[in-house]
Amino acid sequence: MKYILLSFLIGLMFNVSAQIDFLYQNNLSFSYSETIESYKMLDSLYANARLVEIGKSDIGRPIHLFIVSEAGDFSPESLHSKGKAILLINNGIHPGEPCGIDASLKFAEDLLSSEKKLLKNTAVCIIPFYNIGGGLNRSCCSRAMQNGPQEYGFRGNAQNRDLNRDFIKCDSENAKAFTKIYHQWNPEVFVDCHTTNGSDFQYGMSIIATQKDKLNKRVSDYLNNKMLPFLYKDMASKKMEIIPYVYNVDKSPDNGIQDYLETPRYSTGYTTLFNSIGFVTEALKYKKYSERVEQTYAFLHSSITWMNENSSEIIATKQLADADVKQQKTFVISWERDTITHQIIDFKGYEVEEVESAFGKNAKKTIYNHDKPFIKKIKYFNKFNPDIIVEKPIAYIVPQAYKYVVERLRLNQIEMVEIKNDTSITAEVYYIKDYETVKTPYEGHYLHYDLEVIKKIAPIDYYKGDFIVYTNQASNRYIVEALEPQGVDSYFAWNFFDGILQQKEWFSPFSFEDEAIKLLNDDSKLKVEFQNKMKSDENFAKSQWEQLFFIYQRSPYYEKTHNRYPVARLIKW
Ligand SMILES: [Zn+2]
Repeated sequence: MKYILLSFLIGLMFNVSAQIDFLYQNNLSFSYSETIESYKMLDSLYANARLVEIGKSDIGRPIHLFIVSEAGDFSPESLHSKGKAILLINNGIHPGEPCGIDASLKFAEDLLSSEKKLLKNTAVCIIPFYNIGGGLNRSCCSRAMQNGPQEYGFRGNAQNRDLNRDFIKCDSENAKAFTKIYHQWNPEVFVDCHTTNGSDFQYGMSIIATQKDKLNKRVSDYLNNKMLPFLYKDMASKKMEIIPYVYNVDKSPDNGIQDYLETPRYSTGYTTLFNSIGFVTEALKYKKYSERVEQTYAFLHSSITWMNENSSEIIATKQLADADVKQQKTFVISWERDTITHQIIDFKGYEVEEVESAFGKNAKKTIYNHDKPFIKKIKYFNKFNPDIIVEKPIAYIVPQAYKYVVERLRLNQIEMVEIKNDTSITAEVYYIKDYETVKTPYEGHYLHYDLEVIKKIAPIDYYKGDFIVYTNQASNRYIVEALEPQGVDSYFAWNFFDGILQQKEWFSPFSFEDEAIKLLNDDSKLKVEFQNKMKSDENFAKSQWEQLFFIYQRSPYYEKTHNRYPVARLIKW
């Protein structure tokens, strides 16, 4: 008896998997420091494991990466050259949703011990704990009515930002570290582990697979015709059936669900720009914590099983897609959901009932009746159509003055050629004609949207040290989505160019009036335009200042750079 107890205790000390099992089965989750200590233990116990630090988080502590590979090879270049398919897993971006943190630890140890065979054609990289600031802010209940664990971290990071809106804009140190990891490893498959709220249903997990129309067609066909059907089937065979993310078109799934469009601010929207297959796992928060960890583990296991058996095809598909993108001429930078086209899918839900509410006669309480499970056919709207399409230029010209933009291009390993001498380049430029801005701050920014632009060809002055970014790169999609101002998550949208939106020089009406009259008399076209405006706009006709401003804006005195987007498009030599 004593011997059994002793071996159990030794097992607990040295077997991380057993510790994790004990923990999550008792509705507990590892803290940040316990997670890192456990990975350190795996690193010291197994030759095929290595824990490294890559960059820092906003709160100053390092972002770790845990690498598991056969024969102790931890070099991405070497592993790629050996034909290993790379799986990158991110955990704890929302630390209140910790099932991936615990599931990944168990997954890592199993890959190092009982499941070594799954590393024959693969290597696995795990970010153990991404949002460390949020992870340190632990409490019992910041996710109202979540079914465990007893304690967990908070959604916002050390600056109270949502890191799953920070990928392309890359404000946080965490996102900068992620960008480094991502490009260093260039994974074929990426999984971001979450827990979801919203409606209740029978499934323990829903998943967001990269939206099919947005993903490179070659990769999308591979994902949707081959890998996804396997994942759904494999999960069902484990009695852990999954469903596409339940994003209701209306109030309940009865009226259909729709694909979630992950734009490049989101993790899988960002990885889509570089042709990785991305998944967001969303374990359902109403299920027991132990079930959520096991579901997440099962999905990771199914993913690596597929990758191990199909490594050559998955690698070749991504390589061909990367080659496609170098040649691709047009890019969609905004999408809209097709409200007609849909598939019919089975949905296993619970009858929704309305019962009396304690909040009085006029209120109703909605319940999902677990005694009345059902399977219904529902509509699944999973088609998105292009909204804005742009043709790529030969190159973009990026002034060095926009150092935060240059920094992000560098982080994303974009090749840039420095201009050697001060010069004037005739190129296509956008003038921002109109745009909307959110009224309250969103993730630390006043995000712009619904942009209207006017294109002009003009000679623009550039200086020694400014950058030419050619669009013959495998990262073209990132380049275009970041630099085209109408892109939903472009650097213009995220306020990196707001300076141009403010006029810097003005005129004094008293000194400008005589000149204004002269300008009108000297330019018959301007005069006709002015007279038409006087006839058609009553308020304009009454305002001397408006009339002077109208002429000023059309005169050589008006600054050419107002509302002119500073990244020009080189369209011919
Ligand atoms: Zn989440």
